[in-house]
Amino acid sequence: MALGYNSLSIAQVAGSVAAILGIEPPTLAAGASPLLVRAAREAFHGLNADRAFLYNPDAIALWLFQKYTALFEEALLRSRLQLPLRSVMPSVTPVCFASMYTGAQPAVHGIQAYEKPVLKIDTLFDALLRAGKKPAIVSTTGDSVSMIFLEREMDYFIFDTPEECNEKALTLIERDEHDAIILYNADFDATMHRYSPESPEALQKLRLNSEVFAAMHERIGRCWQKHRTFIGYCPDHGCHAIDGGLGSHGLEVDTDMDIIHLYDFIG
Ligand SMILES: [Zn+2]
Repeated sequence: MALGYNSLSIAQVAGSVAAILGIEPPTLAAGASPLLVRAAREAFHGLNADRAFLYNPDAIALWLFQKYTALFEEALLRSRLQLPLRSVMPSVTPVCFASMYTGAQPAVHGIQAYEKPVLKIDTLFDALLRAGKKPAIVSTTGDSVSMIFLEREMDYFIFDTPEECNEKALTLIERDEHDAIILYNADFDATMHRYSPESPEALQKLRLNSEVFAAMHERIGRCWQKHRTFIGYCPDHGCHAIDGGLGSHGLEVDTDMDIIHLYDFIG
């Protein structure tokens, strides 16, 4: 059982976003990725981004990107940087998103199993609020992203379906009122658990997630022309097939731990 080969950590995302926006990172966040920050600096001619849009499709493994690259076409064509990252253990949704948005390891942020308590430690959302930024989370009812970041003075838009979330995110981009938007989609994860990761049903969602990222990217390009926007396609962990035509994740194996993030810089 391989442990995964990726050298960058999902815990570097929070610090990287903060550095790209020119704000103080969450207090317990790991250091930013110098490569990612350099890419943003060069794209924005030395200036900070003033907007961030992070799209969080659930359970998109690096091996899916390698094996089904064509299904990522729309997202790939709109990202100028692709970074392989290693997730955290156990590789389940609340644990991994907690690390992505606190920058801390599970032993530090405290979510070490599939449970969804409100995080008490400092998050990227707290850091954004302290810097006078206006963040928003758009996510589905009962899911981790909808629950573990609650109780902040920010906007939460929670819907029953990913389609409603995506529509809302497009509307928020048009309204041009938020400095940072997080959009969560669980449709690939739900489908791969039910039908296995390489089922036609799951692969259709894989392509769809890429197209959703492209739609967000295009709307930002049109509606946020006065801004410099950091945009990311940022899954939480991977997945693997198990007996019975099902999919799973949560283990310390490369299929579950190795992911890839796609980034671009608009403006
Ligand atoms: Zn997940």
